[in-house]
Amino acid sequence: MELYKENQLKVYNSLSKKKENFKSITEGYVGMYVCGPTVYSNAHLGNVRTFMFFDVVYRYLMHLGYKVRYVRNITDAGHLENDAEEGEDKIAKKARLEQIEPMEVVQRYTLDFHDVLKNYNFLPPSIEPTATGHIVEQIEMIKEIIEKGFAYEVNGSVYFDVLEYNKKENYGILSGRKVEDLLNNTRNLDGQSDKKNPQDFALWKRADERHIMRWPSPWSDGFPGWHLECSVMSTKYLGESFDIHGGGMDLKFPHHECEIAQSKICSGVTPVNYWMHTNMLSLNGQRMAKSSGNFILPNEILTGENSLLPKAFSASVVRFFNMQANYRSILDFSGEALEASEKGHSKLMEALSFLDKIVSSEISTFDVQKWKKDCYSAMNDDFNTPILISHLFEAVKTINLLKEQKASLTVSDLKELKTTLEAFVFDVLGLINENSQDNSGKINGVVELLIKLRKEARENKNWALSDQIRDELIALGIQLKDGKEGTTYLIN
Ligand SMILES: [Zn+2]
Repeated sequence: MELYKENQLKVYNSLSKKKENFKSITEGYVGMYVCGPTVYSNAHLGNVRTFMFFDVVYRYLMHLGYKVRYVRNITDAGHLENDAEEGEDKIAKKARLEQIEPMEVVQRYTLDFHDVLKNYNFLPPSIEPTATGHIVEQIEMIKEIIEKGFAYEVNGSVYFDVLEYNKKENYGILSGRKVEDLLNNTRNLDGQSDKKNPQDFALWKRADERHIMRWPSPWSDGFPGWHLECSVMSTKYLGESFDIHGGGMDLKFPHHECEIAQSKICSGVTPVNYWMHTNMLSLNGQRMAKSSGNFILPNEILTGENSLLPKAFSASVVRFFNMQANYRSILDFSGEALEASEKGHSKLMEALSFLDKIVSSEISTFDVQKWKKDCYSAMNDDFNTPILISHLFEAVKTINLLKEQKASLTVSDLKELKTTLEAFVFDVLGLINENSQDNSGKINGVVELLIKLRKEARENKNWALSDQIRDELIALGIQLKDGKEGTTYLIN
């Protein structure tokens, strides 16, 4: 039986602001869309937190036996300088400043993004569509919204009519904002706008002469509004209604609110059943910002090349650090916090490395079944990774007691403990036992070298040296065994 049938997952839905029982639209299948990066600069550590959490969601859903289609887009056009409706396209601006083609900007930072994800052991999504690859579909969606009476054209640009939509639907259903309040907030900024009402948002923008990224459309040579691509690509690959939509909480408004409005007008149905939003990441207690110097690039953590860090940290330690916090809480990133995580991470990995050396007993002094249930309960409770980690450390404690022979496990319990622990640590959390992988080969090499030297000593009848090598290895917990085939060894 698939694990999802015996594990009732609960998801905190940002739409209802409640934890809800998760039920997928089609049994056994999950459709998940996560808003990807705008590729005009290096991957941001805050975004990495968001994508890392959804990587764990993806991994856990698959662990439960769901077939998951995970779509995470690349925004390579349409994201304007300020998230409101004015300003320059972020990618076009970067291209202009650096005197390169916009697609060079896109290529450079898409490669950087993928490099970071690979370094941090992310699973690739099922589909990674781009905004520029879906211009035709975006134009079709705009036509449909105009036909239905919820968008209008002014001077070659097309805007979504928020007030018209709000007569029939609830614009603000996700963010809790009221259309009237939005009017007060936006009035001053939008003096020059073509819009009928300041709350309206762009579906298509006419490109001015210096704007290089432009496509022909029935209204003008221009480019699509940022919110539109996600409605188009989620509908195209996951259907009019799908299970999970995720992103950072800064995207709740206006981006996700606009997505709901666009999709609902076209399909008539609620597009997303569960909205999930990750909280922010601060750095040394303050907002991370390049301009203030309070800023770290994800790859700098791996090399230690940033004065805000005491040293380099492994990708798995950073992952572990991220998962020690609940995704809905603000997480403060600092060198000290990473050092603390590094200690915990190595304790966990040491325990895992020791598992193979444990000898089973007749009785168990640790309730493995209850522990396993607790691990699943933590993840089933809205992917509560910090609680999961606290349970993983109960297992670490038991393994350390087993090491000192102060605890015992039966063959089947030992097997269950190992399988479950490895599944959560490696498959679900995506951690890597870097020490064991790196060092086991080196240790083998060193022991083989000592075996060779001892053999030479014996051939030269240098018994004192050969005994010394054997005895000192025993003191380190490495036992040599002489046999017909040569000398083998056992690490205790
Ligand atoms: Zn999006």
